[in-house]
Amino acid sequence: MRTSHVDASHAFLHGPSYLMGVGGEALDKPSIEFRFPPAWSKLSTGMKDISEERSKFIYEANNYDELIDSPVEIGCHETDGFEFKGIPHHIASYGELYPHKQKLKEDMKKVVESVAKHFNDDLPYDQYLFITHFVPKLFGGLEHLNSTALQFDGRKLNTRKDYLNYLSLVGHEYFHLWNVKRIRPDALGPFDYVNENYTSLLWLAEGMTSFMDDLFVYRAEISTLEEYLEIVKGNFDSYFGTPGRNYHSLEQSSFNAWIKLYRPDENSKNSSVSYYLKGGLVFTVLHSLLLEKGKSINDLLMLLWKDYKARPEKGISKEGVYDLVKELGGEEVLNKFSTMIETTEEIDFESAFLKMGCEFRWQETNAPWLGVEWEYSGDRAIVKGVTLDGPAYKAGLNTGDEVTYLNGLRFFKEDTERFATIAMIDQPYELIVTRLGKLQRVEITPAKAPRFLREIAIVDRALAEKSFKF
Ligand SMILES: [Zn+2]
Repeated sequence: MRTSHVDASHAFLHGPSYLMGVGGEALDKPSIEFRFPPAWSKLSTGMKDISEERSKFIYEANNYDELIDSPVEIGCHETDGFEFKGIPHHIASYGELYPHKQKLKEDMKKVVESVAKHFNDDLPYDQYLFITHFVPKLFGGLEHLNSTALQFDGRKLNTRKDYLNYLSLVGHEYFHLWNVKRIRPDALGPFDYVNENYTSLLWLAEGMTSFMDDLFVYRAEISTLEEYLEIVKGNFDSYFGTPGRNYHSLEQSSFNAWIKLYRPDENSKNSSVSYYLKGGLVFTVLHSLLLEKGKSINDLLMLLWKDYKARPEKGISKEGVYDLVKELGGEEVLNKFSTMIETTEEIDFESAFLKMGCEFRWQETNAPWLGVEWEYSGDRAIVKGVTLDGPAYKAGLNTGDEVTYLNGLRFFKEDTERFATIAMIDQPYELIVTRLGKLQRVEITPAKAPRFLREIAIVDRALAEKSFKF
């Protein structure tokens, strides 16, 4: 979705990768004509169709930014759509879908309605287009002013959990037409196309969106509260499994996106945290703090939208966002919020959820644990990553080490999988590993595995529903 792709079956054209600009020229109403083989019958884009006859495909944008912000799908893809508030919402689907029983179009419309009501149905476009590439193993999306390009594995739609994930992706990218394409950090538009654009505000752009996306699906009455909380629990699993949260604040994570999130390495989990992941959880806490003041995330969205409409040509600064949070929740809420954005202080998630009628249920375990993430080459066990301060980390096991013997006996992939049944806590073991072609001896002592979050349980259903519903 971030580049163009042309093959015998279709073309997906992503503006910045094929439409070069001429230094600094904004262009006034540029138009573009597409010519393609007659076997390809369709073209889908958010640009305005100005063709005078159907045999031609000529489109127009208001300026260069909008021209390159309009992806184009050409080929024999499936097209469909629906109207909402009298505005056409087109659907263009390329690729294979396995048979499924979902009401895809109806549910997409419900998600669109669910997102739009957060902005009082103020739809700032006259048509919208969802392009999805249904391709095995792909997942992701990219937002545009009046369209989005999504990637999803079309074999998975029949599985409830994956289907909800697709709808959440639809909601995520569609919501971006407000938050990111219009309400935006000041560095993100108008763009400097020549240099990298730095911002410390991606917690607003992606964090808030990550909080809202699954919530939209619940608020559309497609997922249940239990399903929603199960997804949130999954996010906490990732968060608590990321020691880097103690070293990288949300602001730093945003600013370093160019060299961290988009260039992950074996130590990423130990040294950084995703602004999507932590940002989403921080906005959950902010929502809870605002609820206590008789407000909610809904009020913040409306204030951000009002702020954008007052000066659409300029993005928002951190101080601008903070002012709005303060307007809603006062100094105390702002202090708690800014601490979560600017520092790595541990966050009291449990209190925030308790105030919304939900309780964290933890599970202790007595399983021996090494803190190793494995990868395999045939049945050979190779260290893919080690958890900061875990037993493997303390023993000096490195990424890339191939573990060949445990206490003198040959060690294979299957032994990593049944490690909990063959090893003991607090008992030293000798590992023989191959590191850069040389044998090494490593003494390692398995520890008790960390407790894990079993579920986020609803303890006061009425309160929980009131807290998470629109
Ligand atoms: Zn996003």
